[in-house]
Amino acid sequence: MRRALVVGGGVAGPVAAMALQRAGIEATVHEMRPAAVDDVGAWLGVQVNGLDALRAIGAEQAVRDVGFPTPVIEFRSGTGRVLGELSATGPPPARTVGLSLRRADLYRALHEEALRRGLDLRYGARLVDVHDTGDGVTAVFADGSTDTADVLVGADGVRSAVRGLVDPAAPPPRFVPVLNTAGVSEHVPPGAEVGRLTMVFGRRAFFGYLRAPSGGTWWFANPPVSREPAPAEVAGISDAEWRRRLHELHRDDRSPAVALVEATPGPLRGWATHDVPRVARWHRGRTVLIGDAVHATSPASGQGSSLAIEDAVVLARCLRDLPVPEAFTAFERLRRARVERVVAQGFGVSSAKSPPPVGRVVRDLVMPVLLRRGRDPQSWVRAHHVDWDAPVTGAA
Ligand SMILES: Cc1cc2nc3c(=O)[nH]c(=O)nc-3n(C[C@H](O)[C@H](O)[C@H](O)COP(=O)(O)OP(=O)(O)OC[C@H]3O[C@@H](n4cnc5c(N)ncnc54)[C@H](O)[C@@H]3O)c2cc1C
Repeated sequence: MRRALVVGGGVAGPVAAMALQRAGIEATVHEMRPAAVDDVGAWLGVQVNGLDALRAIGAEQAVRDVGFPTPVIEFRSGTGRVLGELSATGPPPARTVGLSLRRADLYRALHEEALRRGLDLRYGARLVDVHDTGDGVTAVFADGSTDTADVLVGADGVRSAVRGLVDPAAPPPRFVPVLNTAGVSEHVPPGAEVGRLTMVFGRRAFFGYLRAPSGGTWWFANPPVSREPAPAEVAGISDAEWRRRLHELHRDDRSPAVALVEATPGPLRGWATHDVPRVARWHRGRTVLIGDAVHATSPASGQGSSLAIEDAVVLARCLRDLPVPEAFTAFERLRRARVERVVAQGFGVSSAKSPPPVGRVVRDLVMPVLLRRGRDPQSWVRAHHVDWDAPVTGAA
């Protein structure tokens, strides 16, 4: 194994290229966007398991430099009652803390780190086809150019073109019944602390906010919807309409949602939420899928980027130690159960974000008890560790 093509330069792509390089495999990233970062929007969390995987390839600091630690997640009801809190720290002895950062800064940091390591990142390269010759694989791009290597890694996100080539029967991404919108407000709610992410189970919609050390407050909202809107429908919601809807949804909550939205420079934009719960085939011939392309999860899990990073590093270990196709089989064996469980949890959380009144009462009673007992439904996800030096074997 000498050379890999990585299709997609989001999160999984640059990390895969860096990890493959560390494994002694040359990698070129082909990204369809015209430049490293355009407006990729919003903000997200990289959890301790994602940071652990970055540490395995010496890339953790590059991401830490553009984020800030967010050790506490607090849950409140729409009445303002604190339902409890979770610690977003990793297991001992490291007890690292997850980060919050803008998506654009995460992309930029990973690209810059990959370039610093001498990796080849090509922009404006939209993959349209793949030809597998048995002993090599050729990627065909929309401009007619091609590139050939030993393997192709499809890291091209939730709308993956590579997925359809690996598994033509794969269903389209599943609609998760909430919309998303987010912003950076100039308002800072009284009592809001840097590093404390507050999640509000409002009467009609879910809202989260986080005071940022650079000033202002980052927020997101999840208006529930009963049917999947057409992409143009969501894109066509005006700034004024978003503000009207958010005011309507949150006006009866005892939360800073309305004040935060009002003090947010526009235009507000939104997007529908989709996940990819199960792809029957993860690889075909010399092509394999990683990240959102094979298991996109609802943002409610807070794990999409962290799982994408884990995938990238684990795949590089497999390709370092095993030939194809055994490396791909081992990769799927090491990853499938874990990522599908996270996707299922994320879908469940998203779907439960705005239950009917009876469900709200039960949740508000049960949640404090569970949280007091230290029942953290995500501790098993965060405890994941990548041992870079451990050899991967083909055995089950
Ligand atoms: C608003 C929002 C909030 C989120 N919040 C969180 C969060 O809190 N925590 C979290 O962990 N995750 C979150 N996520 C999810 C997270 O961003 C993704 O899980 C993560 O980016 C997945 O990485 P990826 O590399 O697999 O896909 P992406 O980051 O989507 O990268 C795919 C790349 O492939 C490129 N591409 C697509 N098709 C082609 C093609 N044919 N040829 C070449 N290139 C192509 C795309 O341009 C893109 O750059 C959020 C996502 C959104 C949208």
